[in-house]
Amino acid sequence: MMTATEIRAKFLEFFASKGHQVVASSPLVPREDPTLLFTNAGMVQFKKVFLGQDKPGYVRATTSQKCLRVGGKHNDLENVGRTARHHTFFEMLGNFSFGDYFKEDAITFAWEFLTEVIGLDKSRLYATVYLDDDEAHGLWKKIAGLSDDRIFRLGDKDNFWSMGDTGPCGPCSEIMYDRGEAVGCGPGCGIGQCDCDRYLEIWNLVFMQYDQIEPGNRVSLPRPSIDTGMGLERIAAVVQGVHSNFDIDLFQTIISSAATIAGVTYGDNDEHDTALRVIGDHSRSVAFLLADGVMPSNEGRGYVLRRLIRRALRFGKLIGLSDPFLYKTAGVVVDVMGEAFPELGASREFMERVVREEEERFSVTLDKGLAILAEELDRMTAAGETVITGEFAFKLYDTYGFPLDIVNDVAGKRGITADEDGYRAAMAEQKARAKKAWKGSGETDPAVLFLELLESGMKSRFVGYDQLTAQSRVN
Ligand code: ATP
Ligand code: MG
Ligand code: MG
Ligand code: MG
Repeated sequence: MMTATEIRAKFLEFFASKGHQVVASSPLVPREDPTLLFTNAGMVQFKKVFLGQDKPGYVRATTSQKCLRVGGKHNDLENVGRTARHHTFFEMLGNFSFGDYFKEDAITFAWEFLTEVIGLDKSRLYATVYLDDDEAHGLWKKIAGLSDDRIFRLGDKDNFWSMGDTGPCGPCSEIMYDRGEAVGCGPGCGIGQCDCDRYLEIWNLVFMQYDQIEPGNRVSLPRPSIDTGMGLERIAAVVQGVHSNFDIDLFQTIISSAATIAGVTYGDNDEHDTALRVIGDHSRSVAFLLADGVMPSNEGRGYVLRRLIRRALRFGKLIGLSDPFLYKTAGVVVDVMGEAFPELGASREFMERVVREEEERFSVTLDKGLAILAEELDRMTAAGETVITGEFAFKLYDTYGFPLDIVNDVAGKRGITADEDGYRAAMAEQKARAKKAWKGSGETDPAVLFLELLESGMKSRFVGYDQLTAQSRVN
């Protein structure tokens, strides 16, 4: 069996043999790019190169890039545990051409890697192209010998790629792997038709041609370029013959460590398995975020980290974990991935201490908050209500430190949702009140001062999807 580590190495070696410079992954926090919360694709570190603003001294590059997709345009938080193919943190294998080769070579390289180096069964592979991209369509026929019925034309949602609201973008062509009927969702199952795990998207070849300067304003890049991305965990699942990304070697060690601590067995119980997958996933993102210098806080990137920790703890409850455990499973991430990512080992002790402190602090209020939420859900069920008020959801956040996604996870199981707009409105109201109180009394409440600071200097478009509150009692 080929391990994920071996696949990563083979990928980089293959593209090095095709004249690509092997470049190290950049951190999860993008350097000098305020438009992006986290690195969400391999191209992020090369954004300026695509735009023609940086000349790195090579025109072909290959990477295995650390990615995080929580918040922003690409947000997979709610998908984790629900699908077999989405993580918050994952590795994206990529090859890049900066105005050098274009569509033909990109398709040739990808096909050669998948069918010759990795040895995938050709009869299981399909391709998609952008609606009017006859050129890519023709190339798939010519290079891979795919017949017309194995090439699908899809629109903006699937086959036009952009990193965010602005930045380099272009039409793309994707390679799908058919895992067979057993994994399908039944009648109507098909490429572009459903969202199940049967036709697994493994590799996206982006034909970078434009720069989106602002909404509605797109200009051509200096030179057409190539940006590709293939999820390491997905290709490993295919190569290792498992149906879920979570069953690959890289993940199993982490998941079984959580199962051992909890005294449960992976594969015995659906609810437990989801919890174990979420814990496995979040252990990775938490370890990598801390290694890249993000600290838990109540705003922006730090709040994403805090939410991941708290969400993991809540899923831990579902498998009976009430003592701190995440610092241990995040430690296993260091064992498993520390060789490929030395920053993990370097920050190990610090990371474990910070996670453990967060766990200890939140566990005090987690039980209370869960009990109050359960009580409210019982009352609502009896009364036939289906939407949690914004005020209630906000109170849980403000008093017990419950991020909205925990409320949604718990309530969703009982067919109840939270009024998210109301939640944000309640938060905004409290913020306004805090501000008024501060101006009125002339005192410098440190929490309010922090709030003001945030509003003036540190404003970014991300302070807003889940803002800080001045009076958060759990932080
Ligand atoms: P999907 O449609 O499955 O959500 P995507 O179209 O959003 O994937 P791209 O932006 O095209 O993904 O990223 C390139 C590749 O990265 C994908 O083809 C896939 O192999 C991998 N990938 C994307 N999102 C994730 C994720 N959340 N977890 C693991 N791998 C991912
Ligand atoms: Mg996606
Ligand atoms: Mg897709
Ligand atoms: Mg895609």
